[in-house]
Amino acid sequence: MRPVAGKVFLVGAGPGDPELLTLKAVRILREADVILHDDLVSREIVVRFCSHARLIDVGKRGGGRTTSQRFIERRLTAEARAGRRVVRLKGGDPFVFGRGGEECAALQASGIEVEVVNGITSGIAAPSALGIPLTRRGACHGAMLVTGHCADDAGADPDWRVIAAAARSGLTLVIYMGISRLDSIVDALRDGGLDAAMPAAIVQNATLPEQRALLSTLGRLSADRAANAFGSPGIVIIGEVVRDCALAEAASIAGVASLSAA
Ligand code: SAH
Repeated sequence: MRPVAGKVFLVGAGPGDPELLTLKAVRILREADVILHDDLVSREIVVRFCSHARLIDVGKRGGGRTTSQRFIERRLTAEARAGRRVVRLKGGDPFVFGRGGEECAALQASGIEVEVVNGITSGIAAPSALGIPLTRRGACHGAMLVTGHCADDAGADPDWRVIAAAARSGLTLVIYMGISRLDSIVDALRDGGLDAAMPAAIVQNATLPEQRALLSTLGRLSADRAANAFGSPGIVIIGEVVRDCALAEAASIAGVASLSAA
């Protein structure tokens, strides 16, 4: 296939705080002709770094208007074919959930050059925002990034029994897109043998001025979430490392409940 003049950059915007953008992301945004961005990209990043370019909002968060994946891929292809420098700006990291891989494959199949620029994924940023050392030696052997919600066309939901077994063996769970189905996820993890006393946290809008966090236990997590009206976007962290939370009292963290025994 004949190569086209334009190029698409799949760029991670990080979790929200503009200062967590990479230098590379900032440069590429400044050089862009057109930027297609998600709702998850923070308003401040759009205003500060994107306003010189033609902006296309392709957000598709629950409830509102949705933009089909096909439309996004067609638009990226058309803009690149017209010779433009195109940025596809995604929340967090472009290749951690959020379909960056699919977009990359579709563009390459159309003969379009693609470059991927990492961003800080929210599942890494959220624990740090609370001072939770995600892989602290002695508390766990590592961490798993898991989706709480599979798209209809992306196959079956995760096998929470297997995931519970992994957590019991000492892996911290970091759950994306899990807030709306939290009750059933917690039940499934409990069925899988995970202890009700296992420490758990929710971080909503991590690194943004609206950040809120909740410290709880697996047994109380659903009730605490409901009582404190936590919603999306949020990361759920389950594991012993949550006990090490060092920043629970930080003034920037509103609505923090204390971690007590189940
Ligand atoms: N590519 C993104 C993830 C996209 S999936 C990344 O690497 O972060 C969307 C999910 O990401 C949301 O449902 C939520 O679980 C999580 N998320 C994204 N930004 C967040 C933020 N600032 N705070 C908490 N969770 C966030």
